[in-house]
Amino acid sequence: MATMKLKVMTERLRTDFQLSIITLLGAAAIFGIVPFAFYRFLEHNYLAGFTDAIISLGIVINVVYAWYTGETERSGFVLAVFCCIAAVVISSLLVNVGHMWVYPVLVATFFLTRPTAAILLNTATIVSIVIYTTSLQSTESLFAFFTTCVVVSACAFIFALRNEHQREEMANLARLDPLTGARNRRSMDDALKLAVSTAERVGTTYALVILDLDYFKRINDKHGHSLGDDILIHLTRLVDDSTRQTDQLFRFGGEEFVLLMPGVDLQGMKAVVYSLRQKIRYKLRSPDSPVTASFGAALLHEGETWESWLKRADDALYRAKDAGRDCIIIDDED
Ligand code: GH3
Ligand code: MG
Ligand code: MG
Repeated sequence: MATMKLKVMTERLRTDFQLSIITLLGAAAIFGIVPFAFYRFLEHNYLAGFTDAIISLGIVINVVYAWYTGETERSGFVLAVFCCIAAVVISSLLVNVGHMWVYPVLVATFFLTRPTAAILLNTATIVSIVIYTTSLQSTESLFAFFTTCVVVSACAFIFALRNEHQREEMANLARLDPLTGARNRRSMDDALKLAVSTAERVGTTYALVILDLDYFKRINDKHGHSLGDDILIHLTRLVDDSTRQTDQLFRFGGEEFVLLMPGVDLQGMKAVVYSLRQKIRYKLRSPDSPVTASFGAALLHEGETWESWLKRADDALYRAKDAGRDCIIIDDED
């Protein structure tokens, strides 16, 4: 039981970046601050000791809240605000050493919350400290403190912005097929689930089309894999150019694609599919013959699961293949 719990916790730390950062900073703060709390009490500086104890307790409560609720974005922000306030208080309480705690806090805010929120918190912290600190006694040390804080915050801000941008790009790439740039299978499952729930909630109609290139293996075998790749890329462009911006194209398998169209009825769906078949036949070519595709299409029925909807379109595609290929079967017309 205990090992099971430990396993779940390790898995959460591994998969939830924000939670692992909150936990790591929490642990660092506890191991860094709690000994100081004891030390302050021992030297009878009760105000500083009490403040250290409150800060440690606040951090622990935040970490526990993040673990318990899973709301890491909110607790990360609260922890960042809390650490900034603690930095201001400590730097006004402890002469000569208080301001040193400000630097790790100015960096930690970027780990805990979004770059824009962190830079605003840092600005408020630096300004408050420059106004209220008793830790820095000469104008020169105050100026040096201010400048170094601005440099640390600016560097961390630029790094955090870059990091956020790269994370967004990676998340986007993880949802795209690298060859054609169409969305991949994983994002298709999510999009179909979202379509079903949107249809239930607001009654939007949805159409699903599966298209599969005919005898594509032969084209590959005869003219080479790289020509096959070019045809797949060309097909993706052709479908993108022939459909609306709200329509989404997914690469379902090797030479099989799924087109999801919101707000389309039976007539609209048929118009799109028949026009696509014509365009593929006339615009996609292998060196010695036109390239054709077979289509299976289905409208989303009320109360239907996304798996059953996809299966109906897939079964229609099989029937289109059986019917001799270069063919369209609309499931709802049976
Ligand atoms: P059918 O008309 O029954 O669909 O016949 P088919 O030859 O198109 O279908 P089959 O499933 O037998 O073969 C699919 C082929 O698609 C096999 C594979 O060589 C090719 N293929 C799959 N992925 C890629 C790819 O990324 N690039 C290229 N060039 N070919 C691919
Ligand atoms: Mg095929
Ligand atoms: Mg296939």
